[in-house]
Amino acid sequence: MSTPEHFPGLAPSLLSRRTLLQALAVGAGISLLPRPGGARAATAPAGRVVVVGGGMAGASAAKYLRYWGGSGVQVTLVDPTAAYTSHIMSNLVLNGSRKLSSLNFSRDGLRKQHGVVIRKAAVQSLEPIQRVLRLSDGGTLAYDRLIVAPGIDFDPAYGLTAEDYALRTPHAWSAGPQTELLRQKVAAVPAGGVFVMTIPKAPYRCPPGPYERACVVADFLKKRRNGNVKVLVLDENLAITAERENFTHAFNVIHAGVIDYQPGVQNLHINAYTGQVSWTDAIGTPRSVMAQAVNPIPPQRARGSRSGDWLQQAGLANSADGRWAVVDLLSYESTALPGVHVIGDAAQTGLPKAGHVANQEGKTCADAVLRLLAGGSPDPAPVLNSACYSPITATTASWLTAVYQYDPASRTMKVAANNGVTAGAMPTEAANISNKNFKRMDTWFKALMADTFS
Ligand SMILES: Cc1cc2nc3c(=O)[nH]c(=O)nc-3n(C[C@H](O)[C@H](O)[C@H](O)COP(=O)(O)OP(=O)(O)OC[C@H]3O[C@@H](n4cnc5c(N)ncnc54)[C@H](O)[C@@H]3O)c2cc1C
Repeated sequence: MSTPEHFPGLAPSLLSRRTLLQALAVGAGISLLPRPGGARAATAPAGRVVVVGGGMAGASAAKYLRYWGGSGVQVTLVDPTAAYTSHIMSNLVLNGSRKLSSLNFSRDGLRKQHGVVIRKAAVQSLEPIQRVLRLSDGGTLAYDRLIVAPGIDFDPAYGLTAEDYALRTPHAWSAGPQTELLRQKVAAVPAGGVFVMTIPKAPYRCPPGPYERACVVADFLKKRRNGNVKVLVLDENLAITAERENFTHAFNVIHAGVIDYQPGVQNLHINAYTGQVSWTDAIGTPRSVMAQAVNPIPPQRARGSRSGDWLQQAGLANSADGRWAVVDLLSYESTALPGVHVIGDAAQTGLPKAGHVANQEGKTCADAVLRLLAGGSPDPAPVLNSACYSPITATTASWLTAVYQYDPASRTMKVAANNGVTAGAMPTEAANISNKNFKRMDTWFKALMADTFS
């Protein structure tokens, strides 16, 4: 990534990159900054950049555009919400360890400390030829470069309506009112009761998240119901999709007798009123169960990618299945629309759809946009990292981490050789599940959110 020295227009009052790195290293033990690299741009960057979506990816991009780019770069961040509610850590609301309000993050720091202009509105359409966005408040915004980070949306599935998800069978895969509803539903599961959760086929937001949720709910319920409760996990994937060793241990040992994990399920159907869940198991046998609480996590797609929605209308949802935005991984520029970059969960990158990765993509993209605005070209060898902590009980956690490096031959990001890790390997899991990891999780989360929003 670029240092301030790459961009001479940088405001002198801003923190140096070294200071920030030191602060993060002390705080998290994990660097949140991708590596600097590539040729310096000859001139200072200048221009108007609009960022759509002030979540993990968009807020990071907006901040670092100003932090590295300086006052010549005008940055406007568009988001309809007054503050960001973090999905990260929202599983801990389900066992009462956290309040939902503890997951709210103001965007004031982006405005006050970095000079980002915040526009409270939703984007409704994009006119790429004119380089103009139309907003829900009736206004328009013109840009020289656009960064799109709207996150994901859900396809109602399994025979459920959007109203069922909102009122009866919450997915709670976006932190908010459904998280609170699911907390109440979990707490109401009686002794001898069954909690069913379903996991959609990958890719979905936060690969380890559903398995983490199964563990947190199992831990909570078994303590309160004296072990007399079942957490049935119906996974449409053929196997656990992330942190396989630690979750297998958690399901088979730590939560043995409570969690029943069934991979490879098909034909899921849920009756939101009776709690009856039916499916076909991995060997083709039809099965069903009556549940006291059902938590179906629906299939996902880039927000705005449905037929007629703005991302789709603009031609940005150009993956083979029309659900994601395909990007060049050096700059995150859309392969469909020049001048438009897509980051975070909405993009098809091959990287995990995760908040830590979204933060890293935001910075990599900010660096590329600044270089392009200055007449240069993106860093040809970007490196970024991913880190994720997963609570397994109310006091213990596991983690997963990887360093990813651009592979010019395949134009993909691959796990890099690093600290004894072989190039192309799977991300590294914690050697064990521990209370120490649980404490470090809090430090990591604080560092990540501070790096993104302040
Ligand atoms: C239960 C759970 C646990 C998780 N745990 C972890 C974890 O431990 N570690 C981790 O790294 N990740 C975790 N994640 C994943 C992480 O939350 C996401 O990957 C991350 O938030 C993606 O960032 P994003 O910026 O792409 O989307 P988001 O953070 O969802 O932000 C999208 C933003 O875009 C805005 N927006 C949408 N449409 C428009 C529009 N039309 N106009 C303007 N703005 C718009 C929204 O208001 C929102 O603010 C978890 C997710 C869940 C659900």
